[in-house]
Amino acid sequence: MSSQSLLFDNHGRPLSYLRLAVTDRCNLRCFYCMPEEGVRYLPKSQVLSFEEMERLVRVLVGMGINKVRITGGEPFVRQDLMAFLRKLRAIEGLDEIALTTNGVLTAPHLPELNDLGIRSINLSLDTLDRQRFLKITRRDEFDRVRQTLDALLEQNFDVKINAVVMEGQNTDDLHPLTELTRQYPLSVRFIEEMPFNGEGSHYPKLIWNYRRILDELQQFYPDLQKLPDPAFSTAAIYQVPGYAGTVGIIAAFSRTFCGTCNRIRLTAQGELKTCLYQHGGLQIRDQMRNGLSDEQLAGLFLSAFKNRPFDGFEAERLRPDAVHESMTTIGG
Ligand code: SAM
Ligand code: SF4
Repeated sequence: MSSQSLLFDNHGRPLSYLRLAVTDRCNLRCFYCMPEEGVRYLPKSQVLSFEEMERLVRVLVGMGINKVRITGGEPFVRQDLMAFLRKLRAIEGLDEIALTTNGVLTAPHLPELNDLGIRSINLSLDTLDRQRFLKITRRDEFDRVRQTLDALLEQNFDVKINAVVMEGQNTDDLHPLTELTRQYPLSVRFIEEMPFNGEGSHYPKLIWNYRRILDELQQFYPDLQKLPDPAFSTAAIYQVPGYAGTVGIIAAFSRTFCGTCNRIRLTAQGELKTCLYQHGGLQIRDQMRNGLSDEQLAGLFLSAFKNRPFDGFEAERLRPDAVHESMTTIGG
């Protein structure tokens, strides 16, 4: 926990972790995240400037947030990201900055990320097969992503691979992705697919839920061991005995982890979301641009924290419509 005063929601859950989407734009088109033609990007005027983001992070850190994960869209398609990260680094009380990236543009920035103490990198990589990668992301960028993975490992970053498990797409990758953990001390996390693909379409029933993923892993590794889950982890962590790394399963659709959820999200357009599944959120951008003081902004944040849905199912029930947003606008 942070040295700051503790921040709690209306259900007594501590809040300490902000996921900040620095852009809604992306250089891939992963089909589970957006339609082929992309989503309608926000006009620049509606996207928070880096100065505005920095101010909001300062206010939130003052309230008790101590970890920020930079996400998007693809963080590295936004110009001057590194200059922004340097500014964030200077915020007192912000103990950890982490980053989630698709790895296409990431490798050249690794030395500077390291210098800034940004050591925890989540790399999205659903397959180790070039053709499957092309089919899933609709872009031929496998080689660059793979190079980023190699560079991350060479430079000893704390690496997590995020792989969304999808029927008919990459279930043959469960084994080879897990095999990466034989040699490398990384964590491969298999994620249930969520209905955030910008089209509102989803299966009537999720086929590759955490149970099925676990069953499949146990077929290959009958002696797969359950490890204790770190505090506030969304992943259930396992290890193949003798392997250097771990595998995790994230029940993102089954939502088994809401009881300890310590995260809030700020979208690139300045919407605060206290739950991934909620409709909209608190629109903070315009109020900030209308001249609210830091204290007033903190008051608005607090009112949202004290009205947080109990879990992702309640948040979904409260929606006026079915989930249809793209993950790229929510900030995964
Ligand atoms: N572009 C970056 C990347 O891909 O890592 C950061 C943003 S992306 C929205 C963050 C994470 O959300 C990725 O790991 C991605 O796999 C995950 N994601 C996107 N759409 C999803 C969906 N429908 N279900 C589950 N995970 C999803
Ligand atoms: Fe882009 Fe990440 Fe969404 Fe893929 S998952 S389309 S890389 S934002």
